[in-house]
Amino acid sequence: MLNWNEIIGHEASVRILRGMLLADRMPHALLFTGPAGIGKSLAGKLLAAGILCDGDSNRPCGFCQACIMYNRTAHPDFTLVRPDGRAIKIDQIRALQHFAALAPAVGSRRVCIIEDAELMTVQAANSLLKLLEEPPPGFVFILVAGMAQPLLPTILSRCQKIQFQPLAANTLVQALIARGYAPEAANVAARLSGGRMGAALGLLAPDGLLARNTAAELLDSLLDSGMEPVWDRALRLDGLETKEVVGILGFLVYLLRDVVLIAGRYSEHLLYNSDCIPRLNGWAANWSEGQSMLAISAVKNTIRAISGNANTRLAVEALLINLKDLAEKEIKYVDSSRYPL
Ligand SMILES: [Zn+2]
Repeated sequence: MLNWNEIIGHEASVRILRGMLLADRMPHALLFTGPAGIGKSLAGKLLAAGILCDGDSNRPCGFCQACIMYNRTAHPDFTLVRPDGRAIKIDQIRALQHFAALAPAVGSRRVCIIEDAELMTVQAANSLLKLLEEPPPGFVFILVAGMAQPLLPTILSRCQKIQFQPLAANTLVQALIARGYAPEAANVAARLSGGRMGAALGLLAPDGLLARNTAAELLDSLLDSGMEPVWDRALRLDGLETKEVVGILGFLVYLLRDVVLIAGRYSEHLLYNSDCIPRLNGWAANWSEGQSMLAISAVKNTIRAISGNANTRLAVEALLINLKDLAEKEIKYVDSSRYPL
């Protein structure tokens, strides 16, 4: 059953949204922005349920006919648009136009959530703009967008914006412990997720740390002699989607960051991967602070390159040769101000 209490943090945003429901004053279009996995989608679902709910107060009530239909994803006055492959295409927005032209089947309101709205093609966005310019009566558009790509300014200007910020690590740790997770695991997930509840829950799922562990094995292989073990690991990255490779490299940055902290004898409280302290110590015995900082910089450059249009396989191979080279060099001093963590 959907309930506003499920949203951890984001108090100000939740207050605004519940206030709108209570006063029954809905803007025609809202835009929820913030990093992925932070709770925007859940807030969107709750707001949509609340708009359609027949309850008197504290909507969504969870018990009325509208709530029951909504929870079964069978409410005729609700529709969800999400990317078809990598983009939201114009055909999908055309279908939405047809949907929006209908009168409400049950109550007086109709709602549409557009997930990953930043992935609309320009044609799709322009088509949506027409709908936003002349919104059908009683219709509410809830756009949920990440930060990766900007939306058309013309769309932005027609939406009421609600921003979602990452949670403080401690708030997230407490929320995860309250859900029954062990403090140690909650702590690692909260830090590695960057304060994003959805991402933290993903990391706590079985196999949730697979990508992090793959990054750790990669780091292990760099300390073995010769290139053979490195290629062996690299082969396992072949066939993964670019997004997954970027995820693994992101964890490699976090591991190397922790190696810097250990090599530089900073407090263990600052470590992200606090479940791997023995391994981190092993790497730190081989990688100096300077080596690790240069390695971080190399990994970040590769992430940038493959997030652009570089060939993933070639970029990863070049990175591994570079890292192997770094692992065998002795670098005593690096100007740390040039490589901020
Ligand atoms: Zn209800």
